[in-house]
Amino acid sequence: MLKDLFINSSILISFLFLGGEIFKESPLSPSAPLKIKIFGGIASGILGSILMIFSVRISPEIVLDLRYFAIIVVAIYGGLTSSIITALIIANFRIYYFSTTPISITVGFLIILLGIISGLISKLNISQNKKWLYMNIVNVAVITIELLFVVKERNLVLESTIYFMIMSIITGLLVYHFSNYITVSNSLYKRFKIEATQDFLTGLNNVRSFDNKLNNIINQLQKNQKNLSIIILDIDHFKKINDTYGHLAGDSILKELAKVLSNSCRDFDIVSRTGGEEFCILLPDCPNQMAIAVAERIRKNVEKHQFVLANQQKVHITVSVGITTYPDKTRNLDNIVEEADHALYQAKQTGRNRVCTG
Ligand code: GH3
Ligand code: MG
Ligand code: MG
Repeated sequence: MLKDLFINSSILISFLFLGGEIFKESPLSPSAPLKIKIFGGIASGILGSILMIFSVRISPEIVLDLRYFAIIVVAIYGGLTSSIITALIIANFRIYYFSTTPISITVGFLIILLGIISGLISKLNISQNKKWLYMNIVNVAVITIELLFVVKERNLVLESTIYFMIMSIITGLLVYHFSNYITVSNSLYKRFKIEATQDFLTGLNNVRSFDNKLNNIINQLQKNQKNLSIIILDIDHFKKINDTYGHLAGDSILKELAKVLSNSCRDFDIVSRTGGEEFCILLPDCPNQMAIAVAERIRKNVEKHQFVLANQQKVHITVSVGITTYPDKTRNLDNIVEEADHALYQAKQTGRNRVCTG
């Protein structure tokens, strides 16, 4: 029996990890798109059917399996739609695998009932732990009813129910632990992935992401002979803003400026925060004259924008902007950022709040 239980638990846990990988990018949840819930239901139905093939032999006449966990797990993560799909697949497989007898049909009906009840429990406004607990109680109750139908000897029913409860507690704890582990590690993976590429304050690309995107564009440029303009801009006298209104007010201005910049560019331009109060915009397929027009539009939009602080105070800022363009202004792709930076330096030197092109 222990050998069978070990095989069943191993299949269940392997599927959990596989599911964790498959649903890493688009997690299975009650609010997930319908196709994800259907897919989750089908995958879990297959798991339940496989578990049925590798059943646990309790006595020469009685075999039990962990198919119910496939329903419980999918109900917890995908909700009612997924759990009903899983239950329908398992019930059909049960009838197909064990032939169409009245017992098979009754058991199939009980499986669908468990799918519906588990799905409904998942909708309750209670903690995840309580949902697990209630679903497991219903599970044991359903199995006991099933055994009453299948097994004629009453003392064997009691013995089998006790076995099943022990099996459920051991496997339930394992499944609970591993599914929580997978959920937490998947959400951490998502968070770290975002944090690795996004600037935490403004939500724009960070320096690392900017470098990657620039390198990708440069690789393509060498193949397809297109233009690339780079705009670098820096807030004028930002230290004074911080000194006058405080660092938090400075932060809120940086956040707002990020929105102004994004709204002033084309959808496919790549806006990044590359320094404290320095931003860089990659304009693929944009000749120098057009980049000057974009930069001028940005400069004017920033100049006229009213930045409203938390205390309702209104602040105005200006930016200095440097541009360069490949191949119009420079053919040196390795130093393209330095060239734009040099143009920015000129804008600062010649009075600020202006656009200079390299
Ligand atoms: P310039 O016109 O020559 O660019 O003058 P500046 O004062 O903007 O330039 P400087 O390099 O002297 O100062 C940049 C300031 O930007 C200093 C720093 O306090 C501020 N700063 C940098 N990063 C952040 C940030 O994340 N939040 C806030 N609030 N301020 C920042
Ligand atoms: Mg500055
Ligand atoms: Mg600066």
